[in-house]
Amino acid sequence: MTTVDTRQTIDYDRIFLGGEWTAPTTGDRIQVHSATTHELVGSVPEGREEDIDAAVAAARTAFDDPSGWAHFTPTQRGEALERFAKALEARGAETARRVTVQNGMPTWLSQQWEQGFPPMLVRFFVDLVKQTQEEIRPGLLGKQTMVIRKPIGVVGQIVPWNVPQAITFLGLAPALAAGCTVVLKPSPETVLDAFLLAEAAEDAGLPAGVVNVIPGGREVGAYLVSHPGVDKVSFTGSTAAGRKVAAACGELLRPVTLELGGKSAAVILDDADLDSQLEDFFGNTMINNGQVCWTSTRILVPSSRYDEITGTLADLYSGLTVGDPLDPATKVGPLVSERQRERVEGYIAVGKQEARLLVGGGRPHGIDQGWFVEPTVFADVDPKARIAQEEIFGPVLSIIRYEDEQQATRIANDSDYGLGGSVWTSDSDRGEAFARTVRSGTFGVNGYANDPVAPFGGVKASGLGRELGPEGLAAFQEIKTIYLDRPNA
Ligand code: NAD
Repeated sequence: MTTVDTRQTIDYDRIFLGGEWTAPTTGDRIQVHSATTHELVGSVPEGREEDIDAAVAAARTAFDDPSGWAHFTPTQRGEALERFAKALEARGAETARRVTVQNGMPTWLSQQWEQGFPPMLVRFFVDLVKQTQEEIRPGLLGKQTMVIRKPIGVVGQIVPWNVPQAITFLGLAPALAAGCTVVLKPSPETVLDAFLLAEAAEDAGLPAGVVNVIPGGREVGAYLVSHPGVDKVSFTGSTAAGRKVAAACGELLRPVTLELGGKSAAVILDDADLDSQLEDFFGNTMINNGQVCWTSTRILVPSSRYDEITGTLADLYSGLTVGDPLDPATKVGPLVSERQRERVEGYIAVGKQEARLLVGGGRPHGIDQGWFVEPTVFADVDPKARIAQEEIFGPVLSIIRYEDEQQATRIANDSDYGLGGSVWTSDSDRGEAFARTVRSGTFGVNGYANDPVAPFGGVKASGLGRELGPEGLAAFQEIKTIYLDRPNA
């Protein structure tokens, strides 16, 4: 097991706001521990309400500057954001390493998601803004109308710990490209990577106040959500917290994007050739140690092939390499924290009462530290069981039997959530037809990947609004209509 050298902890004594590293209001600190060894890996100041006030004021000043960020041309912002993308790339390997140490994300994955995605998303949204045209429409009342898009304003962004950098850039990249300014509140569990982001913003010379990072817990997050200087809230996290954020924004009539929990279904059709798709199937069901909102944690297996497919899945999940997430060979690392492991183990105990334990169910043998649980699979799960209905957020899957496709659709849709899902089949036309029947914001045929060109988000208790694609850019823009004094052409 790799140990983190505690003599080299990563410690910051200032926070980044208004373009400067600023002394925090209090001496309170957030300590960050390795998910794998429990050792202290770093610490940062804990932001308070006064720090949020200062950050929002800086973001407001930057946004309101008549020759500032919001008024740059898309090309001018694009040049600054290209420097930002390069500064992120220069810190990419260290960003991936910090995420892996903090939350247990296997290193091969943090290199793809946490190192690779942020600069890619910045460039994607810069290009998208450049392509967005003002629109002239012939009016029904005789004159033309013009429809323009303006940046929505100061954004308060709150992100979780599970995929901290990629999730941050799902909101930060379009917000900045659109001309907004941002106050980011990262999760306390994974705050060290957010400081690299702040360093990159400084290094790129983004104008003061365009990006501000205030570390803190839920109280500081709630304060940011309701702050009078914030124009738009972008929240990713649990459905329980999302409801509180939505209530606060509802009262204020404040626009909000909510990316929340999930309990998606992977539906294996009776013609599936699963043996040739095991890598992708793992990626859709248990990637990042099961700590991903869109993973398909309910696996629907046809009755006609139930024993055979259940056997294949047992082999897959019992054969995964569990261990140090910094080791490139590791498939499943530890959970983020003791609290998260307690939660997941609580669900495993429930599952043992509700269904048949097929794989795992305990802590991995031979690993005596780290917040590990074994990859765990339950079979013969009733679709109404708690482990089939509630989000567990760990490497725990439920296999549910179905008789025909109509029943598979009914079971897939029998959920409070509606974020992702997938169908597995030898006939891609059949897969596409099935994909249309499930009520969710996204769905994959023989795989699942959040392609940035298309909107990502959930229905029902999985959230409100969309990120990625032109829709994800529009979430940070106001649409304004100007009734022109020009006759229709
Ligand atoms: P969480 O809701 O506890 O915390 C998420 C973030 O919100 C943290 O920064 C936290 O400090 C802050 N927060 C908590 N309560 C708040 C409040 N009342 N007001 C303002 N901020 C508040 O979630 P978590 O445990 O950190 O993350 C796991 C959850 O996030 C899972 O439910 C998962 O499905 C969800 N998630 C969703 C997506 C998505 O895109 N849909 C992506 C990743 C994670």
